[in-house]
Amino acid sequence: MDRRTFLEMSGSFLAGITAASGVAQAQSTGRRIIVIGAGMSGLTAAQTLKARGNNVVVLEARDRIGGRIWTSSKWPDVPVDFGASWIHGVRGNPLTRIAEQAQARQIATSYSRARTYNTSGRVITKMEEASLRNYGTQVYRAIDRAQDRYPDTSIRQVVDTLISQLANVPDARRMINFFVNIEIEHDYSGSASSLSTNWYDSDGEYSGNDALLERGFGSLTDFMAKGLSIELGQVVREIDWSQPVVRVITDRGEFSADRVIVTIPLGVLQAKSVNFKPGLPVIKQNAIDKLGMGVLNKCYLRFPSTFWPTDLDWIDYIPENHGEWAEWVSLRRPLNQPVLIGFNAADYGRKIETLPDTEIVGSAMATLRTIFGERIPDPVDFQITRWASDPYAKGSYSFNALGSVPLMRVELARSVSNRLFFAGEASDQNYFGTAHGAYLSGLRAAAEVLAG
Ligand SMILES: Cc1cc2nc3c(=O)[nH]c(=O)nc-3n(C[C@H](O)[C@H](O)[C@H](O)COP(=O)(O)OP(=O)(O)OC[C@H]3O[C@@H](n4cnc5c(N)ncnc54)[C@H](O)[C@@H]3O)c2cc1C
Repeated sequence: MDRRTFLEMSGSFLAGITAASGVAQAQSTGRRIIVIGAGMSGLTAAQTLKARGNNVVVLEARDRIGGRIWTSSKWPDVPVDFGASWIHGVRGNPLTRIAEQAQARQIATSYSRARTYNTSGRVITKMEEASLRNYGTQVYRAIDRAQDRYPDTSIRQVVDTLISQLANVPDARRMINFFVNIEIEHDYSGSASSLSTNWYDSDGEYSGNDALLERGFGSLTDFMAKGLSIELGQVVREIDWSQPVVRVITDRGEFSADRVIVTIPLGVLQAKSVNFKPGLPVIKQNAIDKLGMGVLNKCYLRFPSTFWPTDLDWIDYIPENHGEWAEWVSLRRPLNQPVLIGFNAADYGRKIETLPDTEIVGSAMATLRTIFGERIPDPVDFQITRWASDPYAKGSYSFNALGSVPLMRVELARSVSNRLFFAGEASDQNYFGTAHGAYLSGLRAAAEVLAG
Protein backbone atom coordinates (compact mmCIF):
# COMPACT_ATOMS: atom_id res chain seq x y z
CA MET A 1 0.00 0.00 0.00
CA ASP A 2 1.47 3.37 -0.92
CA ARG A 3 1.52 6.26 1.49
CA ARG A 4 -1.41 8.07 -0.11
CA THR A 5 -3.70 5.02 -0.10
CA PHE A 6 -2.75 4.38 3.48
CA LEU A 7 -3.60 7.95 4.51
CA GLU A 8 -6.93 7.80 2.67
CA MET A 9 -7.81 4.51 4.35
CA SER A 10 -6.61 5.75 7.69
CA GLY A 11 -8.89 8.76 7.27
CA SER A 12 -11.89 6.61 6.49
CA PHE A 13 -11.09 4.42 9.49
CA LEU A 14 -11.23 7.42 11.80
CA ALA A 15 -14.40 8.57 10.03
CA GLY A 16 -15.77 5.14 10.90
CA ILE A 17 -15.23 5.78 14.58
CA THR A 18 -16.97 9.14 14.22
CA ALA A 19 -19.87 7.46 12.46
CA ALA A 20 -19.99 4.88 15.21
CA SER A 21 -20.42 7.62 17.75
CA GLY A 22 -23.44 8.88 15.83
CA VAL A 23 -21.98 12.02 14.21
CA ALA A 24 -22.44 10.81 10.65
CA GLN A 25 -23.74 7.72 8.89
CA ALA A 26 -22.77 6.72 5.38
CA GLN A 27 -25.35 5.40 2.94
CA SER A 28 -25.64 1.61 3.19
CA THR A 29 -24.68 -0.28 0.03
CA GLY A 30 -26.43 -3.33 1.37
CA ARG A 31 -23.33 -5.49 0.97
CA ARG A 32 -23.11 -8.05 3.76
CA ILE A 33 -19.65 -8.59 5.14
CA ILE A 34 -18.48 -10.93 7.86
CA VAL A 35 -15.19 -10.28 9.59
CA ILE A 36 -13.86 -13.28 11.50
CA GLY A 37 -11.86 -12.18 14.54
CA ALA A 38 -12.20 -9.09 16.75
CA GLY A 39 -8.47 -8.42 17.10
CA MET A 40 -6.70 -5.31 15.85
CA SER A 41 -6.88 -6.33 12.18
CA GLY A 42 -10.53 -7.39 12.26
CA LEU A 43 -11.72 -4.31 14.13
CA THR A 44 -9.81 -2.04 11.74
CA ALA A 45 -11.28 -3.74 8.66
CA ALA A 46 -14.78 -3.72 10.16
CA GLN A 47 -14.68 -0.01 11.06
CA THR A 48 -13.34 0.94 7.64
CA LEU A 49 -16.03 -1.03 5.82
CA LYS A 50 -18.79 0.16 8.11
CA ALA A 51 -17.73 3.77 7.48
CA ARG A 52 -18.26 3.09 3.76
CA GLY A 53 -21.83 2.01 4.36
CA ASN A 54 -21.47 -1.76 4.44
CA ASN A 55 -23.40 -4.12 6.63
CA VAL A 56 -20.65 -5.64 8.80
CA VAL A 57 -20.79 -8.33 11.47
CA VAL A 58 -17.71 -9.43 13.40
CA LEU A 59 -17.64 -13.03 14.63
CA GLU A 60 -15.31 -13.65 17.57
CA ALA A 61 -14.60 -16.97 19.28
CA ARG A 62 -13.66 -15.52 22.66
CA ASP A 63 -15.91 -13.84 25.19
CA ARG A 64 -13.94 -10.62 24.73
CA ILE A 65 -12.59 -8.45 21.92
CA GLY A 66 -8.92 -7.63 21.29
CA GLY A 67 -7.40 -11.04 20.46
CA ARG A 68 -3.68 -10.80 21.13
CA ILE A 69 -4.29 -7.36 22.62
CA TRP A 70 -5.62 -8.17 26.05
CA THR A 71 -5.44 -5.92 29.09
CA SER A 72 -6.25 -7.80 32.28
CA SER A 73 -8.26 -5.87 34.86
CA LYS A 74 -7.44 -8.21 37.75
CA TRP A 75 -5.39 -5.43 39.38
CA PRO A 76 -7.56 -2.32 38.98
CA ASP A 77 -4.62 0.03 39.57
CA VAL A 78 -2.19 -1.69 37.15
CA PRO A 79 -3.17 -2.46 33.57
CA VAL A 80 -1.57 -5.81 32.78
CA ASP A 81 -1.07 -6.40 29.06
CA PHE A 82 -0.96 -10.12 28.35
CA GLY A 83 -0.34 -9.45 24.65
CA ALA A 84 0.94 -6.27 22.99
CA SER A 85 2.28 -3.65 25.42
CA TRP A 86 4.18 -1.12 23.32
CA ILE A 87 3.54 1.06 20.33
CA HIS A 88 6.87 0.18 18.73
CA GLY A 89 8.37 3.37 17.28
CA VAL A 90 5.83 6.13 17.84
CA ARG A 91 7.00 8.32 14.94
CA GLY A 92 4.86 7.67 11.87
CA ASN A 93 3.24 4.68 13.53
CA PRO A 94 -0.50 4.70 12.65
CA LEU A 95 -1.32 3.54 16.19
CA THR A 96 0.08 6.77 17.62
CA ARG A 97 -2.77 8.60 15.92
CA ILE A 98 -5.32 6.04 17.08
CA ALA A 99 -4.01 6.44 20.64
CA GLU A 100 -4.46 10.20 20.37
CA GLN A 101 -8.02 9.75 19.08
CA ALA A 102 -8.73 7.34 21.93
CA GLN A 103 -7.19 9.81 24.41
CA ALA A 104 -4.94 7.01 25.58
CA ARG A 105 -1.90 8.48 27.29
CA GLN A 106 1.42 7.10 26.02
CA ILE A 107 4.41 6.59 28.30
CA ALA A 108 7.79 6.17 26.63
CA THR A 109 10.25 3.56 27.86
CA SER A 110 13.92 3.55 26.93
CA TYR A 111 16.50 0.85 26.22
CA SER A 112 19.11 3.20 27.64
CA ARG A 113 17.54 2.79 31.10
CA ALA A 114 18.86 -0.77 31.28
CA ARG A 115 21.30 -2.76 33.35
CA THR A 116 22.73 -6.20 32.70
CA TYR A 117 23.55 -8.68 35.47
CA ASN A 118 25.86 -11.64 34.96
CA THR A 119 25.08 -15.27 35.78
CA SER A 120 26.18 -14.93 39.40
CA GLY A 121 23.88 -11.91 39.80
CA ARG A 122 26.50 -9.16 39.84
CA VAL A 123 26.18 -6.08 37.58
CA ILE A 124 28.45 -6.68 34.61
CA THR A 125 31.73 -4.77 34.65
CA LYS A 126 32.73 -2.21 32.01
CA MET A 127 35.03 -4.89 30.53
CA GLU A 128 32.21 -7.43 30.35
CA GLU A 129 29.93 -4.79 28.86
CA ALA A 130 32.50 -4.06 26.15
CA SER A 131 32.92 -7.74 25.33
CA LEU A 132 29.15 -8.22 25.22
CA ARG A 133 28.96 -5.36 22.72
CA ASN A 134 31.79 -6.91 20.75
CA TYR A 135 30.03 -10.30 20.65
CA GLY A 136 26.88 -8.53 19.43
CA THR A 137 28.83 -6.94 16.59
CA GLN A 138 30.33 -10.32 15.71
CA VAL A 139 26.90 -11.97 15.69
CA TYR A 140 25.47 -9.37 13.31
CA ARG A 141 28.60 -9.50 11.10
CA ALA A 142 28.33 -13.29 10.88
CA ILE A 143 24.64 -13.01 10.01
CA ASP A 144 25.38 -10.30 7.41
CA ARG A 145 27.98 -12.53 5.78
CA ALA A 146 25.58 -15.48 5.71
CA GLN A 147 22.61 -13.48 4.40
CA ASP A 148 21.69 -13.84 0.73
CA ARG A 149 23.58 -17.12 0.51
CA TYR A 150 21.75 -20.16 -0.74
CA PRO A 151 20.69 -22.50 0.61
CA ASP A 152 19.41 -20.46 3.54
CA THR A 153 20.47 -21.52 7.04
CA SER A 154 19.06 -21.01 10.50
CA ILE A 155 20.35 -18.25 12.79
CA ARG A 156 21.45 -21.06 15.14
CA GLN A 157 23.75 -22.54 12.48
CA VAL A 158 25.41 -19.14 11.95
CA VAL A 159 25.74 -18.51 15.67
CA ASP A 160 27.08 -21.99 16.43
CA THR A 161 29.81 -21.53 13.81
CA LEU A 162 30.82 -18.29 15.54
CA ILE A 163 30.72 -19.96 18.97
CA SER A 164 32.93 -22.81 17.75
CA GLN A 165 35.49 -20.25 16.50
CA LEU A 166 35.57 -18.80 20.02
CA ALA A 167 35.64 -22.15 21.79
CA ASN A 168 38.69 -21.17 23.84
CA VAL A 169 37.24 -17.88 25.06
CA PRO A 170 35.66 -18.31 28.49
CA ASP A 171 32.02 -17.23 28.62
CA ALA A 172 31.77 -16.55 24.85
CA ARG A 173 29.03 -19.16 24.39
CA ARG A 174 26.93 -17.85 27.24
CA MET A 175 27.32 -14.19 26.24
CA ILE A 176 26.55 -14.86 22.57
CA ASN A 177 23.52 -16.98 23.40
CA PHE A 178 22.28 -14.27 25.76
CA PHE A 179 22.66 -11.66 23.03
CA VAL A 180 20.88 -13.81 20.43
CA ASN A 181 18.08 -14.56 22.88
CA ILE A 182 17.23 -11.02 23.92
CA GLU A 183 18.02 -9.24 20.65
CA ILE A 184 16.63 -11.72 18.14
CA GLU A 185 14.51 -14.44 19.76
CA HIS A 186 12.56 -12.05 21.99
CA ASP A 187 11.89 -9.64 19.10
CA TYR A 188 10.88 -12.26 16.56
CA SER A 189 9.52 -14.92 18.97
CA GLY A 190 11.03 -17.78 16.96
CA SER A 191 13.82 -20.05 18.14
CA ALA A 192 17.26 -19.29 16.61
CA SER A 193 17.15 -22.83 15.23
CA SER A 194 13.92 -22.02 13.31
CA LEU A 195 14.60 -18.43 12.19
CA SER A 196 15.68 -17.91 8.58
CA THR A 197 19.05 -16.15 8.38
CA ASN A 198 18.13 -14.62 5.03
CA TRP A 199 14.73 -13.32 5.98
CA TYR A 200 14.27 -13.14 9.75
CA ASP A 201 14.72 -9.33 9.69
CA SER A 202 12.92 -8.53 6.43
CA ASP A 203 10.46 -6.33 8.35
CA GLY A 204 10.49 -2.55 8.67
CA GLU A 205 10.24 -0.40 11.76
CA TYR A 206 9.13 3.05 12.80
CA SER A 207 11.48 5.47 14.50
CA GLY A 208 11.06 7.18 17.85
CA ASN A 209 10.50 5.76 21.31
CA ASP A 210 8.51 2.70 22.23
CA ALA A 211 5.48 3.70 24.29
CA LEU A 212 3.31 1.89 26.81
CA LEU A 213 -0.30 2.94 27.21
CA GLU A 214 -1.28 4.16 30.64
CA ARG A 215 -4.60 2.29 30.61
CA GLY A 216 -3.16 -0.65 28.69
CA PHE A 217 -3.17 -1.54 24.98
CA GLY A 218 -6.77 -2.65 25.29
CA SER A 219 -7.75 1.02 25.39
CA LEU A 220 -7.00 1.09 21.64
CA THR A 221 -9.07 -1.99 20.73
CA ASP A 222 -11.91 -0.82 23.00
CA PHE A 223 -11.93 2.45 21.08
CA MET A 224 -11.84 0.70 17.74
CA ALA A 225 -14.69 -1.62 18.61
CA LYS A 226 -17.09 1.26 19.25
CA GLY A 227 -20.35 1.00 17.35
CA LEU A 228 -19.52 -2.30 15.66
CA SER A 229 -21.83 -5.27 15.62
CA ILE A 230 -19.73 -7.97 17.30
CA GLU A 231 -20.92 -11.49 18.10
CA LEU A 232 -18.78 -12.89 20.91
CA GLY A 233 -18.48 -16.60 21.67
CA GLN A 234 -18.87 -17.63 18.02
CA VAL A 235 -16.20 -20.22 17.28
CA VAL A 236 -15.98 -20.51 13.50
CA ARG A 237 -15.66 -24.17 12.45
CA GLU A 238 -16.20 -24.00 8.70
CA ILE A 239 -16.14 -21.45 5.89
CA ASP A 240 -17.97 -22.63 2.78
CA TRP A 241 -17.00 -20.34 -0.10
CA SER A 242 -18.11 -22.67 -2.89
CA GLN A 243 -21.08 -20.39 -3.77
CA PRO A 244 -21.30 -16.60 -4.34
CA VAL A 245 -22.88 -16.30 -0.90
CA VAL A 246 -20.30 -17.47 1.64
CA ARG A 247 -21.55 -19.55 4.58
CA VAL A 248 -19.75 -19.30 7.89
CA ILE A 249 -20.61 -22.09 10.32
CA THR A 250 -19.89 -21.59 14.01
CA ASP A 251 -20.42 -23.83 17.02
CA ARG A 252 -23.65 -21.91 17.63
CA GLY A 253 -25.15 -21.38 14.21
CA GLU A 254 -24.71 -20.21 10.67
CA PHE A 255 -24.07 -16.81 9.09
CA SER A 256 -23.85 -15.81 5.45
CA ALA A 257 -22.32 -12.89 3.57
CA ASP A 258 -21.19 -11.63 0.17
CA ARG A 259 -17.62 -11.13 1.42
CA VAL A 260 -15.74 -12.63 4.35
CA ILE A 261 -12.53 -11.29 5.87
CA VAL A 262 -10.56 -13.96 7.73
CA THR A 263 -8.23 -12.63 10.45
CA ILE A 264 -7.67 -15.93 12.22
CA PRO A 265 -4.06 -16.08 13.53
CA LEU A 266 -1.43 -18.03 11.59
CA GLY A 267 -1.11 -20.60 14.40
CA VAL A 268 -4.83 -21.39 14.24
CA LEU A 269 -4.71 -21.69 10.44
CA GLN A 270 -1.72 -24.03 10.76
CA ALA A 271 -3.63 -26.20 13.22
CA LYS A 272 -6.47 -26.48 10.68
CA SER A 273 -9.00 -25.69 13.39
CA VAL A 274 -11.20 -24.09 10.73
CA ASN A 275 -12.31 -26.08 7.69
CA PHE A 276 -12.32 -24.22 4.37
CA LYS A 277 -14.73 -25.65 1.81
CA PRO A 278 -13.31 -25.98 -0.81
CA GLY A 279 -9.76 -26.12 0.58
CA LEU A 280 -7.52 -23.08 0.24
CA PRO A 281 -5.35 -22.72 -2.89
CA VAL A 282 -2.15 -24.78 -2.66
CA ILE A 283 0.09 -21.70 -2.76
CA LYS A 284 -1.73 -20.11 0.19
CA GLN A 285 -1.74 -23.35 2.18
CA ASN A 286 2.00 -23.65 1.51
CA ALA A 287 2.54 -20.14 2.92
CA ILE A 288 0.51 -21.05 6.01
CA ASP A 289 2.56 -24.21 6.53
CA LYS A 290 5.99 -22.64 5.97
CA LEU A 291 5.79 -19.35 7.88
CA GLY A 292 6.65 -19.62 11.58
CA MET A 293 4.47 -18.94 14.62
CA GLY A 294 6.57 -18.14 17.68
CA VAL A 295 6.08 -17.68 21.40
CA LEU A 296 6.69 -14.83 23.80
CA ASN A 297 5.29 -15.28 27.30
CA LYS A 298 5.09 -12.85 30.20
CA CYS A 299 5.05 -13.35 33.94
CA TYR A 300 3.87 -10.30 35.91
CA LEU A 301 5.03 -10.26 39.54
CA ARG A 302 3.54 -7.72 41.94
CA PHE A 303 5.62 -6.97 45.05
CA PRO A 304 4.76 -5.22 48.31
CA SER A 305 7.43 -2.64 47.50
CA THR A 306 10.24 -1.97 45.04
CA PHE A 307 13.58 -3.62 45.85
CA TRP A 308 15.28 -3.05 42.48
CA PRO A 309 16.79 0.19 41.11
CA THR A 310 13.88 2.54 40.46
CA ASP A 311 15.47 4.32 37.49
CA LEU A 312 15.56 1.19 35.30
CA ASP A 313 13.08 0.21 32.59
CA TRP A 314 14.97 -2.94 31.56
CA ILE A 315 16.77 -5.51 33.70
CA ASP A 316 18.77 -8.08 31.72
CA TYR A 317 20.28 -11.26 33.12
CA ILE A 318 22.83 -13.56 31.47
CA PRO A 319 21.48 -16.98 32.44
CA GLU A 320 23.34 -20.23 32.79
CA ASN A 321 20.80 -21.97 30.54
CA HIS A 322 19.87 -20.45 27.20
CA GLY A 323 16.83 -18.19 27.23
CA GLU A 324 15.81 -18.58 30.89
CA TRP A 325 14.50 -15.34 32.46
CA ALA A 326 16.99 -13.18 30.54
CA GLU A 327 14.81 -10.09 30.18
CA TRP A 328 12.70 -8.12 32.63
CA VAL A 329 10.77 -4.88 32.51
CA SER A 330 10.09 -2.74 35.56
CA LEU A 331 6.81 -0.85 35.83
CA ARG A 332 8.15 1.21 38.73
CA ARG A 333 9.30 4.19 36.67
CA PRO A 334 6.65 4.26 33.88
CA LEU A 335 3.60 3.42 36.02
CA ASN A 336 4.90 3.95 39.58
CA GLN A 337 4.02 0.37 40.50
CA PRO A 338 6.19 -2.29 42.23
CA VAL A 339 5.69 -4.72 39.35
CA LEU A 340 8.25 -6.67 37.32
CA ILE A 341 7.53 -8.49 34.06
CA GLY A 342 9.69 -11.50 33.21
CA PHE A 343 9.79 -12.42 29.52
CA ASN A 344 10.55 -15.82 28.01
CA ALA A 345 10.51 -16.44 24.27
CA ALA A 346 10.98 -19.17 21.69
CA ASP A 347 11.95 -22.63 23.02
CA TYR A 348 12.01 -21.74 26.71
CA GLY A 349 8.91 -19.57 26.30
CA ARG A 350 7.10 -22.60 24.89
CA LYS A 351 8.42 -24.91 27.59
CA ILE A 352 7.70 -22.74 30.59
CA GLU A 353 4.00 -22.38 29.88
CA THR A 354 3.55 -26.13 30.34
CA LEU A 355 4.55 -25.77 34.02
CA PRO A 356 2.11 -25.02 36.83
CA ASP A 357 1.91 -21.40 38.04
CA THR A 358 3.76 -22.11 41.30
CA GLU A 359 6.73 -23.57 39.44
CA ILE A 360 6.86 -20.63 37.02
CA VAL A 361 6.80 -18.11 39.87
CA GLY A 362 9.34 -20.18 41.82
CA SER A 363 11.74 -20.24 38.90
CA ALA A 364 11.29 -16.49 38.27
CA MET A 365 11.96 -15.78 41.95
CA ALA A 366 15.10 -17.95 41.93
CA THR A 367 16.52 -15.67 39.20
CA LEU A 368 15.49 -12.49 41.02
CA ARG A 369 17.05 -13.79 44.25
CA THR A 370 20.29 -14.50 42.38
CA ILE A 371 20.32 -10.88 41.26
CA PHE A 372 18.86 -9.00 44.23
CA GLY A 373 19.58 -11.34 47.14
CA GLU A 374 17.81 -13.97 49.22
CA ARG A 375 15.99 -11.43 51.34
CA ILE A 376 13.77 -9.88 48.69
CA PRO A 377 10.06 -10.40 49.43
CA ASP A 378 7.80 -12.92 47.74
CA PRO A 379 5.34 -11.42 45.27
CA VAL A 380 1.90 -10.59 46.63
CA ASP A 381 0.34 -11.72 43.35
CA PHE A 382 1.20 -12.75 39.80
CA GLN A 383 -0.33 -13.04 36.33
CA ILE A 384 1.03 -15.44 33.71
CA THR A 385 0.44 -15.85 29.96
CA ARG A 386 0.29 -19.09 27.97
CA TRP A 387 0.08 -18.06 24.33
CA ALA A 388 1.19 -21.32 22.68
CA SER A 389 -1.65 -23.27 24.27
CA ASP A 390 -4.25 -20.54 23.68
CA PRO A 391 -6.66 -22.25 21.23
CA TYR A 392 -7.50 -18.99 19.44
CA ALA A 393 -3.92 -17.79 19.00
CA LYS A 394 -1.67 -20.90 19.10
CA GLY A 395 1.37 -18.72 19.52
CA SER A 396 2.29 -15.09 20.06
CA TYR A 397 3.20 -13.74 16.64
CA SER A 398 4.59 -14.89 13.32
CA PHE A 399 8.19 -14.94 12.12
CA ASN A 400 10.08 -15.81 8.93
CA ALA A 401 11.03 -19.44 9.47
CA LEU A 402 13.80 -21.30 7.68
CA GLY A 403 12.10 -22.55 4.49
CA SER A 404 9.87 -19.48 4.14
CA VAL A 405 10.32 -16.31 2.08
CA PRO A 406 8.68 -12.89 2.61
CA LEU A 407 6.56 -13.30 -0.53
CA MET A 408 4.64 -16.01 1.31
CA ARG A 409 3.01 -13.25 3.34
CA VAL A 410 1.71 -11.77 0.09
CA GLU A 411 0.23 -15.19 -0.74
CA LEU A 412 -1.26 -15.41 2.73
CA ALA A 413 -2.86 -11.98 2.21
CA ARG A 414 -4.19 -12.67 -1.32
CA SER A 415 -7.97 -12.80 -1.68
CA VAL A 416 -9.66 -15.87 -3.11
CA SER A 417 -12.43 -15.62 -5.74
CA ASN A 418 -13.22 -12.08 -4.62
CA ARG A 419 -15.17 -13.69 -1.75
CA LEU A 420 -12.59 -14.55 0.88
CA PHE A 421 -10.17 -11.88 2.07
CA PHE A 422 -7.34 -12.25 4.54
CA ALA A 423 -5.91 -9.93 7.18
CA GLY A 424 -3.91 -10.33 10.40
CA GLU A 425 -0.37 -9.52 11.46
CA ALA A 426 1.08 -12.52 9.61
CA SER A 427 -0.30 -11.21 6.31
CA ASP A 428 1.63 -7.94 6.53
CA GLN A 429 4.94 -8.20 4.71
CA ASN A 430 6.49 -5.11 6.30
CA TYR A 431 5.28 -5.10 9.89
CA PHE A 432 4.43 -8.71 10.72
CA GLY A 433 4.46 -9.62 14.39
CA THR A 434 3.13 -6.25 15.53
CA ALA A 435 -0.11 -4.52 16.41
CA HIS A 436 0.52 -1.85 13.76
CA GLY A 437 1.12 -4.60 11.18
CA ALA A 438 -2.27 -6.05 12.14
CA TYR A 439 -3.85 -2.60 11.80
CA LEU A 440 -2.33 -2.02 8.35
CA SER A 441 -3.43 -5.47 7.20
CA GLY A 442 -6.99 -4.63 8.24
CA LEU A 443 -6.89 -1.45 6.14
CA ARG A 444 -5.50 -3.38 3.18
CA ALA A 445 -8.14 -6.12 3.33
CA ALA A 446 -10.92 -3.50 3.66
CA ALA A 447 -9.52 -1.66 0.60
CA GLU A 448 -9.58 -4.92 -1.38
CA VAL A 449 -13.20 -5.56 -0.43
CA LEU A 450 -14.16 -2.02 -1.43
CA ALA A 451 -12.33 -2.35 -4.74
CA GLY A 452 -13.97 -5.69 -5.60
C1 LIG B 1 2.99 -11.63 24.40
C2 LIG B 1 2.83 -10.71 23.22
C3 LIG B 1 3.48 -9.49 23.21
C4 LIG B 1 3.33 -8.63 22.12
N1 LIG B 1 3.92 -7.40 22.18
C5 LIG B 1 3.66 -6.51 21.19
C6 LIG B 1 4.05 -5.15 21.36
O1 LIG B 1 4.58 -4.75 22.41
N2 LIG B 1 3.81 -4.29 20.33
C7 LIG B 1 3.20 -4.69 19.17
O2 LIG B 1 3.04 -3.87 18.25
N3 LIG B 1 2.77 -5.96 19.01
C8 LIG B 1 2.97 -6.88 20.00
N4 LIG B 1 2.48 -8.14 19.90
C9 LIG B 1 1.84 -8.56 18.64
C10 LIG B 1 0.39 -8.07 18.51
O3 LIG B 1 -0.29 -8.29 19.71
C11 LIG B 1 -0.29 -8.85 17.39
O4 LIG B 1 0.49 -8.79 16.22
C12 LIG B 1 -1.67 -8.31 17.03
O5 LIG B 1 -2.43 -8.03 18.19
C13 LIG B 1 -2.39 -9.34 16.17
O6 LIG B 1 -3.66 -8.85 15.77
P1 LIG B 1 -4.51 -9.71 14.73
O7 LIG B 1 -5.77 -9.00 14.49
O8 LIG B 1 -3.66 -10.06 13.56
O9 LIG B 1 -4.77 -11.11 15.48
P2 LIG B 1 -5.58 -11.39 16.83
O10 LIG B 1 -5.47 -10.27 17.77
O11 LIG B 1 -5.13 -12.71 17.31
O12 LIG B 1 -7.10 -11.46 16.32
C14 LIG B 1 -7.61 -12.62 15.73
C15 LIG B 1 -8.92 -12.94 16.42
O13 LIG B 1 -9.48 -14.12 15.81
C16 LIG B 1 -10.12 -14.85 16.84
N5 LIG B 1 -10.27 -16.24 16.43
C17 LIG B 1 -9.34 -17.22 16.37
N6 LIG B 1 -9.89 -18.37 15.95
C18 LIG B 1 -11.21 -18.11 15.73
C19 LIG B 1 -12.31 -18.90 15.30
N7 LIG B 1 -12.19 -20.20 14.98
N8 LIG B 1 -13.54 -18.32 15.22
C20 LIG B 1 -13.71 -17.01 15.52
N9 LIG B 1 -12.70 -16.21 15.95
C21 LIG B 1 -11.46 -16.76 16.03
C22 LIG B 1 -9.19 -14.69 18.03
O14 LIG B 1 -9.84 -14.97 19.24
C23 LIG B 1 -8.78 -13.23 17.90
O15 LIG B 1 -9.61 -12.37 18.65
C24 LIG B 1 2.56 -9.02 21.00
C25 LIG B 1 1.88 -10.24 21.02
C26 LIG B 1 2.01 -11.08 22.12
C27 LIG B 1 1.22 -12.37 22.17
